[in-house]
Amino acid sequence: MLKFKIMNKKIYQLIFIITFVSLSCNNKKNLPIKSQERKEMNNIDEYYQKRLKMLEEQLKQRDITDKKVLSAMLKVERHKFVPKEYEKLAYIDEPLPIGFGQTISQPYIVALMTQLLELKENDKVLEIGTGSGYQAAILAELAKEVYTIEIIPQLAQKAEKLLKDLSYKNIFIKIGDGYLGWQEHAPYDKIIVTCSPDHIPQPLIDQLKDGGKIVIPVGDIYQELVVVEKKDKKIIKRNIIPVRFVPMKRLNE
Ligand code: SAH
Repeated sequence: MLKFKIMNKKIYQLIFIITFVSLSCNNKKNLPIKSQERKEMNNIDEYYQKRLKMLEEQLKQRDITDKKVLSAMLKVERHKFVPKEYEKLAYIDEPLPIGFGQTISQPYIVALMTQLLELKENDKVLEIGTGSGYQAAILAELAKEVYTIEIIPQLAQKAEKLLKDLSYKNIFIKIGDGYLGWQEHAPYDKIIVTCSPDHIPQPLIDQLKDGGKIVIPVGDIYQELVVVEKKDKKIIKRNIIPVRFVPMKRLNE
């Protein structure tokens, strides 16, 4: 009888050990989260919160009402497009340096220019001034294809790698002088220029579809954001607001 009791106790002990071991192996929650992973998870959450705040305080409070533009601005992770040392500042209401004396525009200006383009999902868009690739990513969320030209090779290469890592398949980058446009893929439904020439480049007007639109800053020290529309081959221009962009360089300068 005593022998039976001891055996019974041993069986219970064994069942307890097996259950405990299998539970701790199967339950992933019990595995320690590596500190790097935890840091990344916190950052993801922190940056999402910052984007929500950016939408509320910088975009909706002003005149950004287009729901598609707002959701693209919420989706695209701007902090990935700025140099590491500016990551924490990525969502402030200011432009930021991206190297080579160039800047990524203030979030509001990116949203405003995108809203002014009135993109449709089948649109083919040309961008002059790839820079960090951020504006191109926003455009790629809302249009079919984005062709973008950057004059500084190092910036073009960096943006190309980042956009590939982020799995964008509808953005095509070329190193060159955007003043001349990109004839090979013309005509474009929409054109956006993110550096400021002192006049609207004729090649861009020529490469725009009839019914299409260009959003472009124009001027040297005093610049105006201009919307250019081509209707029945006529050109209509509308000034929007004063802006401050880096100047458009020319390759022979
Ligand atoms: N759209 C960018 C902003 C870039 S700032 C972004 O989202 O980050 C403007 C960019 O225009 C700079 O990178 C500058 O090198 C580029 N640029 C200046 N003149 C140019 C030209 N003629 N052709 C193409 N890019 C030009």
